[in-house]
Amino acid sequence: MLTRILTQGPIPRVEIARRTGLSQAAVTKAVAPLIEAGFVTDQPAVPAEADNQLGIGRPVSPLTVIRNSVSVIGLKVTPTALIGVTTDFTAGILTVRHQKLDDTTPDTVIERLTDLAKELIKSAEVTAGPLIGIGVAVSGDVDARRGLVRHSPLMGWRDVAVADLMAKRLKVPVVVTNDVRALTVAEHWFGVGVDADSFAVVTIGSGIGCGLYINGEVVSGAYGVSGELGHLPLAPGELVCTCGRRGCVETVASSDAILTRTRETTGRPRLDLAGAIKLAHEGDEHAREAFDRAGEVIGSALAAMVNLVGPELVVIAGEGVAEYDLYEERMRQAFADHAFGAAGNCRLMLRSHTFDDWARGAAATVIRSYVRGEPPLQR
Ligand SMILES: [Zn+2]
Repeated sequence: MLTRILTQGPIPRVEIARRTGLSQAAVTKAVAPLIEAGFVTDQPAVPAEADNQLGIGRPVSPLTVIRNSVSVIGLKVTPTALIGVTTDFTAGILTVRHQKLDDTTPDTVIERLTDLAKELIKSAEVTAGPLIGIGVAVSGDVDARRGLVRHSPLMGWRDVAVADLMAKRLKVPVVVTNDVRALTVAEHWFGVGVDADSFAVVTIGSGIGCGLYINGEVVSGAYGVSGELGHLPLAPGELVCTCGRRGCVETVASSDAILTRTRETTGRPRLDLAGAIKLAHEGDEHAREAFDRAGEVIGSALAAMVNLVGPELVVIAGEGVAEYDLYEERMRQAFADHAFGAAGNCRLMLRSHTFDDWARGAAATVIRSYVRGEPPLQR
């Protein structure tokens, strides 16, 4: 019930009853403890004539969540920076902090994350309600149930017990998730996914990731791994991936792969990514070729995912979206070439996310666990 009010509110009781098939009395009963606990309130009544579509003759007062009834912290870990946000109950961002990171050893990063969280806790005390938990988003193979990062090639981590280490120091529940899955939860609850029955979030950048929402759930995978688009074996086999395998999509399509390729083909070993992008925009054929290869392989990977899962919408996000124009055409062509039948009807939608959005995703994961009463966030 709280989920519905949170993601679809403001919403009148009669509408909740219609959508859930419950009686109005049952809805009123279910909502009462939420109002009493201070999570939900009645918005001022709307005159009936202003709300003709409901076809009822008396004023309705839609239910809405009290945004500042709780506060949440979301943290995103990257190899070069930590990004932290505090949000309200609807994942609305209240404060943002960015910190540079020059050492990715787990001990240092945990220490720095803890300090960042402490700083954000102070800011949350003045801006919003009591803190319900801290979400940490990390790329790679993450065991969310145990709060453990099993393997993050980008961070160079194996078996880092992030949740335990941080919760012990902060005395606040900590939830750790795969970063792309966190972004998918945010889109599902508070973004484009609110109205979609099924969708995928595909992120392009230093890694290629994919979060899936199907049959009413964000897919976690039985072993905590799913949607690893970046490690589908669709690229030529000669290149070794950060994960240690050969032929992964990321060996051609990650921003590092694009840069390495451009350095090799242009004979400019000190080129940086911005330089490679500039060259490609200027029409340098070697730089263009690196982006074309990436676009081709991303398009094939998208088609493979769409052929398997059949989502109605694919949201393309991630920091690589800034250079989207450089590989869009090849990507769409490869997607069209390999998407099977009606699966290819799914819309590809571009969404520019910032690192703040990733951190917000970590906060959204906390909100979801809290509302569902999942450990360690029982209400
Ligand atoms: Zn790989």
